[in-house]
Amino acid sequence: MPVERTEHHELFKYYEVYETIGSGGFAKVKLGRHILTGENVAIKIMNKKDLGDDLPRVKVEIEAMKNLSHQHICRLYQVIETSTQIFMVLEYCPGGELFDYIIAKDRLSEEETRVFFRQIVSAMAYVHSQGYAHRDLKPENLLIDEDHNLKLIDFGLCAKPKGGLGFELKTCCGSPAYAAPELIQGKAYIGSEADVWSMGVLLFALLCGYLPFDDDNCMVLYRKITRGTYENPRWLSPGSVLLLNQMMQMDPKRRLSVRHLLDHPWVMKDYNSPVAWHSRQPLGHIDEDCITEMAVNMKRSRASTTALVKEWRYDQTTATYLLLLSKKQRGKPVRLRLEPAVCEDSCSPLHQGLQTREALHFSEDEDAVIVGSLEFCSDYIDDCPWVSVANNKDMRLASPSVEKKCVYSLTPERGRTTAQHRQERRDRDQGQTSENKENIAVQEKDVEIFALPPPRTPASSKKNARANKKVLTTPNQNANVNGAKTNPVTPKGGGSASKEPNKKRAAEFKELANVEILAFSPERRSRSLDMAVTGDSGKKKRGGKVFGSLERGLDKMITMLTPGKKRALRDGPRKIKVQYNVTLTSQTNPDQVLNQILSILPEKNVDFTQKGYTLKCRTWGDFGKVTMAFELEVCLLQRPEVVGIRRQRLKGDAWVYKHLVEDILSTSSI
Ligand code: ADP
Repeated sequence: MPVERTEHHELFKYYEVYETIGSGGFAKVKLGRHILTGENVAIKIMNKKDLGDDLPRVKVEIEAMKNLSHQHICRLYQVIETSTQIFMVLEYCPGGELFDYIIAKDRLSEEETRVFFRQIVSAMAYVHSQGYAHRDLKPENLLIDEDHNLKLIDFGLCAKPKGGLGFELKTCCGSPAYAAPELIQGKAYIGSEADVWSMGVLLFALLCGYLPFDDDNCMVLYRKITRGTYENPRWLSPGSVLLLNQMMQMDPKRRLSVRHLLDHPWVMKDYNSPVAWHSRQPLGHIDEDCITEMAVNMKRSRASTTALVKEWRYDQTTATYLLLLSKKQRGKPVRLRLEPAVCEDSCSPLHQGLQTREALHFSEDEDAVIVGSLEFCSDYIDDCPWVSVANNKDMRLASPSVEKKCVYSLTPERGRTTAQHRQERRDRDQGQTSENKENIAVQEKDVEIFALPPPRTPASSKKNARANKKVLTTPNQNANVNGAKTNPVTPKGGGSASKEPNKKRAAEFKELANVEILAFSPERRSRSLDMAVTGDSGKKKRGGKVFGSLERGLDKMITMLTPGKKRALRDGPRKIKVQYNVTLTSQTNPDQVLNQILSILPEKNVDFTQKGYTLKCRTWGDFGKVTMAFELEVCLLQRPEVVGIRRQRLKGDAWVYKHLVEDILSTSSI
């Protein structure tokens, strides 16, 4: 996505922007860092033109998120709107999607499911208490934070009926597999009742690792849902079977409500209290310590700082306050920091009323990330997946842990100044390492019964898949499907002439800063992994175990590459630890594994771009739209010493992705 400097200026004043960590139907989400607090954030970036008719959906999401403050709901910190873009700055959840967690473990135990389910009930009881229905509950919309707690996201389809939640809704929306039968049938429905059905589907997915109602053919899927029959696998306890049945009741009036769930016997098992659903972070609460720190920073009185914060504009003031509060709640010092580059240009990160404070010292997380100019970085973030430009101090940081780290600063000059500044500091520090559209009609005879549009499947994308028949055998020749070479460690950019000077500047900059190239694995929480094969049911098991992973416990891996190792980056696959999103092979030759995958992708109608040992894969739907985007990376594992394949979904339906990747990996016979 080309980045226009003027459009992003506002963002870069306050945030460092790193790599893409996800993308949805509307947005690209990038990792960021709030300069003043040093806190990691997720930045959801939406292009207004691309949003088109969906712009109101974004407005709905923003308004809802401003009104919701709960320990299990992803917090909105700031909204920046320009003439072409909308940026939502959100609480960062490094643990990824609950969906990926489920499939990595095949399915969760009843005990672990209960821990998560209680959090989902807590969030949903709060959401309903505020008069909202979420309407798009699914494991992709639940993220895991650094403490392994769930955070609900994606309020774009939520509804807040004017007359209260008891009023009927008509818009049919959400994901077909999670949609209640009354929605599928196009009937008016109560939002909270539909949410409980989705929670039932979600609970089933947690306990079983697959969906209760599933089919590649959407009409068959809709029929299954409207019939309401599903099979309970043998490992479900009688209590789980009963609860699922009470939630996935065809008659919405007979369904449990979220209130009933709070102290349901299944939910209470091994707990001595009902689910606590009240917000621990009620809206409007003002924390005196945060106000004091901000007041000092702004050189204002505490009273006027409080008044400013209480405006809740979701600007830099709101973001600074909420992020400081978050630091405090996690036991970190309530301190603001100052970005040197910002000082130099006498442009305060607290743009609206906040003033800079001289001579701040930070006892924690010294800023560490370097930097390029906005110009050369404009496309760089997406296109430098293997290179991290950071000073050595980063190596010691707990966060951000990033696979690729390229940071914008405001101007080339400033970038240089910053670099020099940091270089000096590095020299000093030597020794330290571094309500929505109405129903879309469906064809076929079921049209009157089913109100949802057909879900997209890989099969439906066949037509447009632009598979490359020519298998590329040399990973070092970074080539796209058309054989165009790209450089693995420089921005892709398709070799556009206008980018050349920027690349040059990037290279100069690296020289100047004497930076190290770092390869990080994404930060993931430790988790024990269950390799148990699920046995019967068999329905979902296409390739079954492929998504399993061996090792227990995953922590951030940081590999520092010396110049010698830089060559290795070009010449060989990355060496990484086993992670939950890595599939192990029994092979030891990475080129062979790569070639096997390369030969299978065209067969599966997967379009790809190759950069070294990473394949950026896409499937295409009708009208040339990308339906799915994911990465497969051949890498070397340390223990056991075998070749692994790291997978990451970037876009598209999670279950379709799961099936497709399982299919690719099992067909590749690796
Ligand atoms: P859309 O509204 O376009 O569907 P989402 O809000 O669902 O976009 O975000 C797309 C993806 O980006 C998510 O599925 C998730 O992987 C990632 N993501 C979104 N918000 C965050 C966050 N706060 N922290 C980490 N990752 C996030």
